[in-house]
Amino acid sequence: MVIDEEHAYRVCAARDARFDGCFIHAVRTTGIYCRPSCPAVTPKRRNSQFFLTAAAAQSAGFRACRRCLPDAVPGSPEWNLRADLAGRAMRLISDGVVERDGVTGLASRLGYSERHLTRVLTSELAPGRWPWPALTARTPHDC
Ligand SMILES: [Zn+2]
Repeated sequence: MVIDEEHAYRVCAARDARFDGCFIHAVRTTGIYCRPSCPAVTPKRRNSQFFLTAAAAQSAGFRACRRCLPDAVPGSPEWNLRADLAGRAMRLISDGVVERDGVTGLASRLGYSERHLTRVLTSELAPGRWPWPALTARTPHDC
């Protein structure tokens, strides 16, 4: 199988988690390899390199990213970072972070953009569990 690098790069730029486990995104400038959905800044196209497996990236001399844990086993807690992110977000929200710093403050504490955080929470939380009212209007109704 050959990786379509242009497509792979677009997937990484969009941090599309559906492609986690399909390929590995390595960054020449940092020597680190990531999952496609890694929240770290997307490098320039010419600095990106793609591998089918983490093992292949390692043997090319890259190290695993500590942020997205590309070596995690699918289905393990490490792998399911999105659910974990939602859990951490909920804990911070119950600590009153949103009241104090807003959704922007919450997102920056978690190390994500506000847009990314909203997207993860939309997919991970049931509509009734929306932690802040401003976003309730955007939650799809399922009744
Ligand atoms: Zn990463």
